[in-house]
Amino acid sequence: MTRVFSGIKPTGHLTLGNYLGAVRRWVEVDQYGTDALFCVVDLHALTVDHDPARVRRLTRQAATLLLASGLDPELCTLFVQSHVDEHARLSYVLECVATDGEMRRMIQYKEKAALERGRGGSVRLSLLTYPVLMAADILAYGTHEVPVGDDQTQHVELARDLAVRFNQRYGQAFVVPRATHPKVGARIMNLQEPTSKMGKTDDVGPGIVYLLDEPDVVRKKVMRAVTDSGRDVVYDREERPGVANLLEILAACEGGNPEDLSGAYESYGALKKDAAEAVVELLRPVQERHKALCADPAYVEGVLRLGAEKARGMARPRVDAAYRAIGLLSS
Ligand code: ATP
Ligand code: MG
Repeated sequence: MTRVFSGIKPTGHLTLGNYLGAVRRWVEVDQYGTDALFCVVDLHALTVDHDPARVRRLTRQAATLLLASGLDPELCTLFVQSHVDEHARLSYVLECVATDGEMRRMIQYKEKAALERGRGGSVRLSLLTYPVLMAADILAYGTHEVPVGDDQTQHVELARDLAVRFNQRYGQAFVVPRATHPKVGARIMNLQEPTSKMGKTDDVGPGIVYLLDEPDVVRKKVMRAVTDSGRDVVYDREERPGVANLLEILAACEGGNPEDLSGAYESYGALKKDAAEAVVELLRPVQERHKALCADPAYVEGVLRLGAEKARGMARPRVDAAYRAIGLLSS
């Protein structure tokens, strides 16, 4: 059976980008007919300046929102990364296979390190080694497919490289995974800065739609989205990134194709109005279920406890085998 693994960081409130680029596919496609694990990757949230209480709160909130989005614990395994020691155990071994040059070439490292330095902070070593821990997250489970947004392609490539290198040097231990992306919505852009990805830790708040935004807040953000000069509605990501992003959002919400949709609009205003309503309708059931789940925190905790137990059982034999293969004595 195909093994699927993916994760989300509790670094901020979940966004429309997270939902359209990753979570919705997990819910609608990946949890069916596969052996899927989904993880709130809290260790990754410690790689940048963080408030401990906030990370704990966001971890619980992310798990609750994943359930509210429709992940079904009967169909998949949902857990918190730090509850399963195997991730950190394997990460160290993979650090002995990866090189520092490989880490420094990672686009996300360069971007996030520049951001930290720009804010006057220092760069944590864990930000540099983050992709190795992510490779461990994936490889520990013998993962075949990693459903992610566009921005994670390079990290999944690294996981592939490390798997191949380890297998060649020390014997077959890991499955070589591949990234999968949704056809539409793999890179949702910030509404105020349509040349930058919408990210939950961005500074440009009004350009980010959060899953828990009230309908009127969603409407306001979408109606105020930066559009391009020119007036006709065409789908051109290079020349007209603002309009292309709105078309992409509308198409992703309605299951259509952004290029086809562009012909249906004569003004930016009409497009914004439809995109805003489509997002409001998309989020409505998620928000309703989230409210209900917040009233039952014991249920969410139970799901995570069981998920961690299952995940531990799946990861341990492979990580133990990798320890032996690389030269460590069994205990
Ligand atoms: P951060 O700014 O902390 O990196 P993020 O919003 O990028 O936050 P992640 O936890 O890094 O969120 O990513 C979770 C998943 O959401 C990944 O699969 C990632 O590719 C996807 N994703 C993130 N942002 C977008 C986006 N704007 N469009 C599509 N997919 C996205
Ligand atoms: Mg990210």
